[in-house]
Amino acid sequence: GKFSPAIYRFLASAADYQSKVNPSQKLFIDNEFVDSVSGNKFPTINPATGGVIAEVSEGDKADVDKAVAAAKRAFHRDSPWRTMNPSARGRLMNKLADLMEREIDQLASIETLDNGKTFESSKGDIGASCSVLRYYAGWCDKIHGQTIPADNGFFSMTRKEPVGVVGQIIPWNYPIMMTAWKWGPALAAGCTIVLKPAEQTPLSVLALAALVKEAGFPPGVINIVPGYGPTAGAAIAEHMDVNKVAFTGSTEIGHLIMQAAGKSNLKRVSLELGGKSPIVVYDDANIKKAADIAYHALFDNHGQSCCAGSRTFVHAKVYDKFVQEAKLLVANRKVGDPFDKNTDQGPQIDQDMFDKVMGLIDSGKNDGAKLVIGGSRAGNVGFFIQPTIFANVEDNMRIAKEEIFGPVQSIIKFNNEEELIERANKTSYGLAAAIITQDIDRALNFAKSVEAGSVWINGYDLITAHTPFGGYKMSGIGRELGEEGLHEYLETKTISIRTPSV
Ligand code: NAD
Repeated sequence: GKFSPAIYRFLASAADYQSKVNPSQKLFIDNEFVDSVSGNKFPTINPATGGVIAEVSEGDKADVDKAVAAAKRAFHRDSPWRTMNPSARGRLMNKLADLMEREIDQLASIETLDNGKTFESSKGDIGASCSVLRYYAGWCDKIHGQTIPADNGFFSMTRKEPVGVVGQIIPWNYPIMMTAWKWGPALAAGCTIVLKPAEQTPLSVLALAALVKEAGFPPGVINIVPGYGPTAGAAIAEHMDVNKVAFTGSTEIGHLIMQAAGKSNLKRVSLELGGKSPIVVYDDANIKKAADIAYHALFDNHGQSCCAGSRTFVHAKVYDKFVQEAKLLVANRKVGDPFDKNTDQGPQIDQDMFDKVMGLIDSGKNDGAKLVIGGSRAGNVGFFIQPTIFANVEDNMRIAKEEIFGPVQSIIKFNNEEELIERANKTSYGLAAAIITQDIDRALNFAKSVEAGSVWINGYDLITAHTPFGGYKMSGIGRELGEEGLHEYLETKTISIRTPSV
């Protein structure tokens, strides 16, 4: 059940990764791979083994200063990037997507090695990333303002202009895909970029850097500074020459990003944060299919998704049957080597997340939830956790309130619609929600009443490049994807002309 030899050839070189892929372990500034100013390096770990894959140049404030200066030069009004035809900008973006497709096996191998997600899901992420880049490539020459019939006979119009140098700080759960979600709208708008990948997963983003250069983006348009949050990340959020910061990660760090923006130059802020998203199963649903949807909603990406369906609300009438079906699915879930094509689930990202998830599993046991299956570590190397189901979960248990970010499904009972909507909304988060039912009125009433940025009916994770995605409440500020995602990277300038001229 192994993948093709082509991938194994690449993985053989991953054994001596340090020497063979050396250039892309450095910072990427002005289209060159450079060492960090301090000369420091940090290790990135293979979560399947706990072993070091590579030592990566560690950027901090001094490197962020260099990268921002490069991005600022690239944003100068006479620069090649600013004077390029919008359609040419779109062609560069399409070229980057083409190159990512050409290199899909290598990129997916790096992603799986560094993150631990299965090789198939890495390839899926890259496909989705290409579609985001292509969607936004199409926007480049379709960004325009309005002419406005203002009072006093003024001739008034608006121009949509790029916001400037943007800082982008991303998490480890979808390294390539989060990069595409950030780069797509920023490049389409005509911004220049300093991106910091998560310290757990710098390698695939640095592999993309080589493709950025090959595609022909002018120097300084895209810069990448790997490093840690409190140093490199904070330097981006505080920087006086960064006009906007886009962040995806924990709600806790989201607070810090806003504070840094507030204390420095009031840079624009968009945040995509955590969630505790409800998925609701009614008694009129096909329970087998509903269980399958809820299974993917939670277990995909090992539960490490901001929009994971982590509160499974099931109607009392079908509750026991649903728990049985859910258990069958998990009993068949294969945990192991993420490069084996029969594997459904690889390791969690690192020791910290492993400990956090195991701690929450223990809290579920201690709080009196019923452990249906799983509940322990899998194997004895790496950060593998058995897929786990708790039934009889009550709203006030930690596993029903806190974001677990791991393969732990909490199945909660409900009796009627009014009570359900109250309980679904009783959280500080508001990223996503879903409902499985045959009753369209009930589905639409839920969609209208639930406090969430995305609502999915009879499905989950129905995310595309074309539709906005983001959070209500403490799940975030602003939207990514779709036309709304683009506007996060644009300023509006009003130009009014008094006529006749003086
Ligand atoms: P995190 O928020 O700590 O890290 C996300 C990114 O922010 C990383 O690039 C990190 O280096 C950077 N960062 C950290 N501190 C910073 C600071 N002071 N200033 C600027 N940047 C900083 O998330 P994590 O540690 O990877 O995961 C912790 C929790 O976050 C998870 O348990 C999960 O609940 C949540 N999370 C959410 C998402 C999401 O997609 N919304 C993704 C990953 C993690």
